[in-house]
Amino acid sequence: MVKSDLSTFSPLERAGPGKPKTFESLPSGSKIVVVGAGAFGGWTALLLLRNGFNVTLFDSWGPGNSLSSSGGETRLIRAMYGDNRRYFEMTLRAWDSWKKLEKDTGTLLMHHTGILWMFDTKGVEIMDQMLTVMEEHNHSFELLTAGQAKLQYPAINMEGLDNLVIEKQAGYLEARKACDAIRTLFIKEGGTYRQGQVKPGTLRNGNMTDIYVNDRRLSADGYVFACGPWLKQLFPELFSHFISVTRQEVHYFGIPPRYVAQFEQLPPWINRESGEFFYGIPGNDYRGFKIAYDKRGKEIDPTTMDRRADHKNVETVQRFLAKRFPKLAGAPLVESRICQYANTPDGNFIIDVHPDAGNVLLLGGGSGHGFKHGPVVGEMAADVLRGSRPLDPVFAIPSDFSRGV
Ligand SMILES: Cc1cc2nc3c(=O)[nH]c(=O)nc-3n(C[C@H](O)[C@H](O)[C@H](O)COP(=O)(O)OP(=O)(O)OC[C@H]3O[C@@H](n4cnc5c(N)ncnc54)[C@H](O)[C@@H]3O)c2cc1C
Repeated sequence: MVKSDLSTFSPLERAGPGKPKTFESLPSGSKIVVVGAGAFGGWTALLLLRNGFNVTLFDSWGPGNSLSSSGGETRLIRAMYGDNRRYFEMTLRAWDSWKKLEKDTGTLLMHHTGILWMFDTKGVEIMDQMLTVMEEHNHSFELLTAGQAKLQYPAINMEGLDNLVIEKQAGYLEARKACDAIRTLFIKEGGTYRQGQVKPGTLRNGNMTDIYVNDRRLSADGYVFACGPWLKQLFPELFSHFISVTRQEVHYFGIPPRYVAQFEQLPPWINRESGEFFYGIPGNDYRGFKIAYDKRGKEIDPTTMDRRADHKNVETVQRFLAKRFPKLAGAPLVESRICQYANTPDGNFIIDVHPDAGNVLLLGGGSGHGFKHGPVVGEMAADVLRGSRPLDPVFAIPSDFSRGV
């Protein structure tokens, strides 16, 4: 169902506009329930609260829990999105919001390290697209030949690479920690957070009248479901053919002590070679050298998936490590985190109204790149509920995908 692994790095702008839809705007003070305290739901709850709504946020397992997609230690924040200017501009807006969140919470959440992009000759097209967009926007970058990069980053074997770019205004976010910081700020500013599993309730006269929280009935004026990979299970009639939830592995390798300083100083990197992506975040809280092979794994159930590492995936990553970072050949695997992407077919997010319930907004489809955009998704969601922004067809559930059960 996922057309290309490029959907994480350069989602397609959808062709024609879909059928325009409207959300029944709600007056300030209305009671809103937000379900899901990940990057999308947490930010949405906070921004709805700041827009004068009475907000209760629910999560089954807690913000940034280990089953959720936002539950990793770190997530990249980069604006380079091929020729997709929409996500480029969204990242710049998100960047400012993350910085403000750091100030508001007094917590270090964003590491401004830059990101090193590494491409072979086949990556020229996507790299050229990125350079064009960065030049248009005065987004600072540095181009390196493989020879120059070798001098700057002696720990990396540049063999087979032709084009390297440092995206300077980029880095990584502390994901789990950020989800908790958002929840804490939300409560401090007057929001209500509750642990609980939510089930959608009755649909009547074009609205949802209630929900069930741990089987207890509760009603509100509006509902936002930001349930990441669980959206598909909560609304199978809409998403069973539109969202695919795939297993994704991230591994941490022990760095030999004499190389720790050298590796911890490397910026996060993204390597595209022979059409495949690997990426890593070398220095994060001494957990080891983080690396992932960004290929969609098999479809899974996020509640019951066995989260032990797959030895084939580990071997693939080890082969890549030995080639690209030779000093880490044979390095021990110290930890693995098994997570999941909630993919839409083209990598665009979902920000759409439920077709049979005008007071239900659905947020999701992070497709492996959603974390950084949490603040912007939240801002758009809050505007939609206030009635100050129409729903954007790019984030719509196309009608030919819904009701496909
Ligand atoms: C390995 C990996 C690497 C990634 N790398 C990056 C990256 O570098 N940069 C980036 O920007 N993005 C990245 N992403 C994608 C990003 O993490 C996700 O797009 C984002 O976290 C999705 O957030 P979400 O809020 O939609 O979903 P989630 O974080 O999954 O949140 C959904 C929440 O809903 C709760 N929930 C579900 N059902 C219910 C229910 N019935 N009742 C109550 N609560 C419920 C869950 O407990 C969960 O907390 C990566 C993802 C993975 C897996």
